[in-house]
Amino acid sequence: MCKPSRREPADVTLIAVSKTHPVERIEPLLEAGHRVFGENRVQEAQDKWPALREAYPDVQLHLIGQLQSNKAEEAVELFDVIHSLDRESLLKALANAMDKADKRVPCFVQVNIGDEEQKGGCPIAELPEFLAKVRAADIPIAGLMCLPPADIEPAPFFALLYKLAQDNGVEGLSMGMSGDYETAVQLGATHVRVGTALFGERG
Ligand SMILES: *Cc1c(COP(=O)(O)O)cnc(C)c1O
Repeated sequence: MCKPSRREPADVTLIAVSKTHPVERIEPLLEAGHRVFGENRVQEAQDKWPALREAYPDVQLHLIGQLQSNKAEEAVELFDVIHSLDRESLLKALANAMDKADKRVPCFVQVNIGDEEQKGGCPIAELPEFLAKVRAADIPIAGLMCLPPADIEPAPFFALLYKLAQDNGVEGLSMGMSGDYETAVQLGATHVRVGTALFGERG
C-alpha cells in the first residue's frame, strides 16, 4: 500500500473539539486566530456558537458526534461540515433538510472501521453502495471518518480507512484525536479532531 509520508501543514486541518468547554475557554483560541472547531451535540452547539459566530463570522463549525435524524434540520442550519453520516435514514433526513434550507453541507461518511457492535458508522462491506446513495442525493462528500476501537493500536485502522478512501475515490480523511493524531497524520489524515490536548480534560 502506498502511504503518504511527507505531509505539509496546509494538508491537515486541525479541528479544535470544544465540546463540554464553555465559551470563555473557546474565546482565547478565536482571539489567537483559530477558526475551525468541533462540537458533538446539536443542543450544546446551539447554546454556545450563534453568539461566537457573530463575533467571528469566518468560523467553521464541524459536527463530529452522532446525529439523530430528527435533529437534521438544526444540524444543517448550524454546522458547516458533518462528520457522522452513516446510515440511510440519516441520509434521507439530511438531504431533505438541505433541500429545505437550500444549503449543501459537506459530510464525511463515518465508517465502522473496527466492526464494533456499539459504534456508529457504515459497515465496511456496505460502504460503496452507501457512498453511491450519498452521491445520488447530491450531498457533497467531504471524505471518510472513523473512530478506531479504544485501547488498541489505531494505525492499522487508519491505514484501512486510507485504503477505503482510495478504493472509493474519496479525498478527505477525518481521523485522529488527542492520543493518536500524529499517527493519523502520518497515515494520511486531512482532518484531525483534537479536544483534550488543546483544552485539557473535559469538565
Ligand atoms: C471528543 C471527540 C474527539 C476529541 O477527543 P480528544 O481525545 O479529547 O481529543 C474526537 N472525535 C470525536 C468523535 C469525539 O467525540
